[in-house]
Amino acid sequence: MMGNGMRYWVAALSVLGAGAAQAETVYVRAGHLVDPEKGTVEGARVLRVEDGRVAAILPDGPVPAGAHVVDWSGYTVLPGLIDMHVHLADAAETGNPAEPLLHSAMETAYIGARNARTTLFAGFTSVHDVGCYRAFADVELRNAINRGDVIGPRMAAVGAYITVPGGGGEVSGFAPDVQVPADMRVGVVTSPADVTLKVNYLFQHGADSIKLIGTGAVFQIGADAGMQELSEDEMRAAVDVARARGSWVTVHAHGTAGIKAAIRAGVRGVEHASMIDDEGIAMARARGVYLDMDIYNGDWTDEIGRRDHYPEEYMRKNTETTLAQRQAFQKAVRAGVKLSFGTDAWVYPHGLNARQFKYMVQWGMTPMMAIQAATTVSAQMLGWEKDVGALSPGHYADMIAVAGDPTRDVTVLEHVAHVMKGGEVVK
Ligand SMILES: [Zn+2]
Repeated sequence: MMGNGMRYWVAALSVLGAGAAQAETVYVRAGHLVDPEKGTVEGARVLRVEDGRVAAILPDGPVPAGAHVVDWSGYTVLPGLIDMHVHLADAAETGNPAEPLLHSAMETAYIGARNARTTLFAGFTSVHDVGCYRAFADVELRNAINRGDVIGPRMAAVGAYITVPGGGGEVSGFAPDVQVPADMRVGVVTSPADVTLKVNYLFQHGADSIKLIGTGAVFQIGADAGMQELSEDEMRAAVDVARARGSWVTVHAHGTAGIKAAIRAGVRGVEHASMIDDEGIAMARARGVYLDMDIYNGDWTDEIGRRDHYPEEYMRKNTETTLAQRQAFQKAVRAGVKLSFGTDAWVYPHGLNARQFKYMVQWGMTPMMAIQAATTVSAQMLGWEKDVGALSPGHYADMIAVAGDPTRDVTVLEHVAHVMKGGEVVK
């Protein structure tokens, strides 16, 4: 159910004999326990963890003599958080369109390893990595984490962006006679038949899901964010292949027409959705499509982009999408659309992902809704809801400890004290 990532994880456990640590029973004392499935904050509880998963939630009380106890009784405990829109295996955005070309594939891999650790330590124990410029850097990072070579969150990876030539998934802005390396152009497509070919290729080489670049992007030279790039037929071709393989598609789409074309084509999720209109919101709601709206990073880009003199084109498009997206988010909350938690970490430094909670509350969610977006809702979007996003028995013992009550002040999630992944305390 968890795709290739899960198979590698299971293989790693059996091959490396990691079951020794996993098989141990651990008792976690929680001062308070946030239950996003019920939408409640419980009092003190003891979680019994066996084989890396939650086996039982017990009332506060004594544990067997000599038991391994993790004492988080001074903290509020939540399921590990999920970010559905990160780019771990890339150098951070600097405003230089050529930035990806300044780093070799090897260096990019090490940058990815650092970003994975930073993200996990910030409390995000699962992520959907929605693309990197060097094809399969994300897949390799996921495999390295699952083998235990690298510390990081559970990852679902897409392999490469499916994008039109010169589209939002390409490095762009160069003279026409400059050759971009082939490993940065693996997902470039020119027809529905080409989409079928390339989406199959991504799955054959380890993609868990598919990311389409449906419209222009903010960090792209030569196209407006609102402009549709992939045709509806091209998007449908990707959805058909993904469905046949038991997987799914999410689309980068800022512009109104591109968003609606993608929803008609059958995508599971829309990233950004900045200029979605009332009809688009109604379509998303009717079809159960997830909107994954990154409503924090516009402020980061505005501040840092001025300081570091990002290209005028980036700054203009950031302004065109930021407020519109927040207003659309508010409408989507009121309309009852499924809203996951995705931040586009890479635009801003990895590890600051939780800054978005405050914005989600400012723009219409209760703190509990924002927590559910980053736990139960995102787990459903991943198709991993039996494994992550909650702490009821059977789920992985992925959990975090924070000081204070995040349902009163959601910004306490910006300062995660401790992190457990699969029953092991990693921070
Ligand atoms: Zn992105």
